[in-house]
Amino acid sequence: MRKLRTTLLTLALAGVFSIAPATNAARIALDIGHNLAKPGTLSAYGETEFSYNLALAKVIAQTLRNAGHSVTLIGDDGLMNELKPRAEAAAGHDLFISVHHDSMKEEFLEEWLVNGQPQLMSERFRGYSLYVNSDGPEYARSLHCASQISAKLQEAGFSPTLHHTDNIAGENRPMLDRQLGIYQANFAVLRHNTIPAILLEAGVIRHPDEAKLLRLTTYQQKIAESIATAIHCHSVF
Ligand SMILES: [Zn+2]
Repeated sequence: MRKLRTTLLTLALAGVFSIAPATNAARIALDIGHNLAKPGTLSAYGETEFSYNLALAKVIAQTLRNAGHSVTLIGDDGLMNELKPRAEAAAGHDLFISVHHDSMKEEFLEEWLVNGQPQLMSERFRGYSLYVNSDGPEYARSLHCASQISAKLQEAGFSPTLHHTDNIAGENRPMLDRQLGIYQANFAVLRHNTIPAILLEAGVIRHPDEAKLLRLTTYQQKIAESIATAIHCHSVF
């Protein structure tokens, strides 16, 4: 027994057993939406969307790395002010995921007080949504990845929001898959990508309950695990 153990140890030290099976490792470019100067929308509690995006992206990155994948974070220093370089930084990866948190049109927001400060909130909409550019060279694989990730999110108990289809100015966005909450969007970070690319709005942070949930590490972990389970979507065809 001792001899076997010693042999196994020797083999392990010699690198015969690698911790991460390299053949199954995906290379993921994880983009943190917005930056410190323009931090996106605000939550019902006045926190910036950028802070939500960064927190969730860090949990997604850790989950993917623990599963043996490599992750490049884009814009995690909060200093990336241009959109095109985000897509350019994704070259050579298997999949680009831009992480965002959602809002809704101003007419739906109500003022409330948080620690004596006026903030804007609404319980009208909640849920995640996914975005794909249907004009891009990698449309088929991008849509497939969005579909796989959405299916895993739904298995984990998450529901999509359909409010971006509303027939009002600033919304009216075409849907590619209503059941899976996948919208068409020619956002710059998607348009400039040459690899499969999707954008995730993880939830609506103007919704007071959803904003609280999205701050929980356990909740972020559930989103991250859904993504990790679907991460080989780019290699199916
Ligand atoms: Zn955003």
